This record gives sequence, structure tokens and C-alpha cells, in this order.
Amino acid sequence: EAKDSGKNRYVAYHKSMREGVINILAVENDLKRALKAREFEAYYQPIVNLADGRLYGFEALARWNHPERGMVNPGEFIPVAEETGLIVELGMQILEQACGVMNTWRKKHPIASELTIAVNISAKQFGESSLAADVASLLERSGLPSYCLKLEITETVVMLDAMKSTNQLNLLKDLGILLSIDDFGTGYSSMSYLQKFPTDQLKIDLSFVQRMESAPENIEIIRAIVNMAHSLRLRVVAEGIETERQRDLLYSLQCDYGQGYLYSKPLCEADAEDFVKNSE
Ligand code: C2E
Ligand code: MG
Ligand code: MG
Ligand code: MG
Repeated sequence: EAKDSGKNRYVAYHKSMREGVINILAVENDLKRALKAREFEAYYQPIVNLADGRLYGFEALARWNHPERGMVNPGEFIPVAEETGLIVELGMQILEQACGVMNTWRKKHPIASELTIAVNISAKQFGESSLAADVASLLERSGLPSYCLKLEITETVVMLDAMKSTNQLNLLKDLGILLSIDDFGTGYSSMSYLQKFPTDQLKIDLSFVQRMESAPENIEIIRAIVNMAHSLRLRVVAEGIETERQRDLLYSLQCDYGQGYLYSKPLCEADAEDFVKNSE
């Protein structure tokens, strides 16, 4: 009997594993097709100055404009893209769109000359030895000045191999771009590396912002992050701000910038351009 159930468990496990593999293969093929068809579209979420609410920049966030499924969010395709290596091409397509769009806005709207565009870099991309060279050639093709571009790399990724990361970050920094550590607080950071990395800002993970009121110890965590960041001359962005209360608390904690539904959801290119115009 025990043997039977063991066997059944094995069969069940084996079956679900096979289905998992088949599913990944299906998504992988669809992703490859979609990359060729240019179905990935950058959306742009405003980032504002917490002190006066003025527009500071945007974060580019990938969306999949799928012919059958409609607009698909990154949670559904970034993990498979990462696992299959397709994230490298996908990330470049988003980076190219983001740089191109920001450069166009700069020519049309005076206020856009002060804005930065932040783009996410995945673990796989960050591990590529050609990353800095690829970013450099893309910047050149788009015409966007390097100081307008900011790359976001998650804390978990940069801390995985901090020595290697220092080299990669230095190569990127040499291009004259800005660097941001994303999802800060969810991993384990070494203070001594944080101080050595040539980074410009930390982005506090939205989980801290969203639990600020229900679990007030998060306020103390944010306070500690902001103070530490400022002592290292880093700017701090809080993501996931949905309420005025959260905004007020973050401002009182001296957080520099904010991003979240309170200000705006991620917007398609045309709506984001309207947001720029309305900020003038
Ligand atoms: P992230 O870089 O930490 O981006 C912030 C996420 O929080 C975005 O989700 C954004 O839409 C969401 N968000 C912003 N404000 C609020 C708010 O007030 N409330 C709530 N509940 N959520 C808010 P999104 O667009 O679904 O992206 C999820 C993650 O997917 C990103 O997290 C990033 O890690 C990844 N991702 C998105 N686009 C790209 C890309 O082009 N390349 C790479 N490598 N990763 C990407
Ligand atoms: Mg990000
Ligand atoms: Mg984040
Ligand atoms: Mg995240």
C-alpha cells in the first residue's frame, strides 16, 4: 500500500513536471515570436519629487501586447524570459524604446530636459559581459545623453556576487549613466559594498510602503534605510505609494522621490507624454 501511494506520488510529480516543461516551451516559442513581431511595449510610470510633487522622471515597465491575450503584465512573462535567456533581447527592446521616447520628449517639451528615464535590468542581463558596451551603442543610436538614463538592478542581484557586481557597475557608471538599486530592503545588503558601489539611488521596495500603516515597524525600517542612504550620499525613491497618508509619512521620513498609483499608474507612451505636457 505504502509502495502504491509512493508510486502514485511519483507519477503525479512526473506528470506535473512534464506539463511544466511543455508550458515553458510553449511560452518560450510564443516569446520568440513576439520578440520578432515587436509585441513588447514599454509603459511609463511617473516618479515625482515628494517635497513639491513635481515630475522627476519615469520608470519604463514592459507590457506584452499579445494578439490573443491582450495586455500581459511582466509577472507572467519576465520569469520565463529570464529562464530562457530571452530577457536579454527583450530588455534591449524596452531600453531602445525608452531611450528613443525620452529623446523625442526632450526635443518637444522644455521640462523633459530635466527628466530621467529608469529601465530595469534583469539578473541575466547584468551577468552579460557585453552589457556596458550594448548600453553605450544603444545610447549612441538613440541620441539620448547618458545622464538621462538610469538603470535599476535589484538588491538581490547586485549582492549575489558583490565583487563581480562592483566591476559591472563601474563599467556602466563610466558611461555617465545613473544607477539605482531596486527592491531595496528585501535582500541582504552589505554596508561596505553599498558604500563601494558607484550607485546614485536606492528604491525602497513597495512591500515596506504598503505595510507602513498596518505594521508600524516598517516606518522604522524606512527611516533607517533613508538615513543610511543619505549618509552614503544616495537619493531614495519609495515605490508603491497609493495613499496621501503614505506620501505624508514618507515625506516626513525625508524620502526624496515617490512613485505609485497615488500619482499615476504606468502609462502608454501617448498618455505619458500628456503627463509630461501637463507638468509644464
Ligand atoms: P519593479 O521594477 O520593482 O517595478 C515596480 C512595480 O510596482 C511595477 O509592476 C509597477 O507597476 C508596480 N507599482 C507601481 N506603483 C504601484 C502601486 O502604487 N501599487 C501597486 N500595487 N503596484 C505598483 P509591474 O509593471 O507589474 O512590473 C513588475 C516587475 O517586473 C518590475 O518590478 C520589474 O522587476 C519587472 N519588470 C518590468 N519591466 C521589466 C523590464 O523591462 N525588464 C526587466 N528585466 N524587468 C522588468
Ligand atoms: Mg524597477
Ligand atoms: Mg521595485
Ligand atoms: Mg519588484
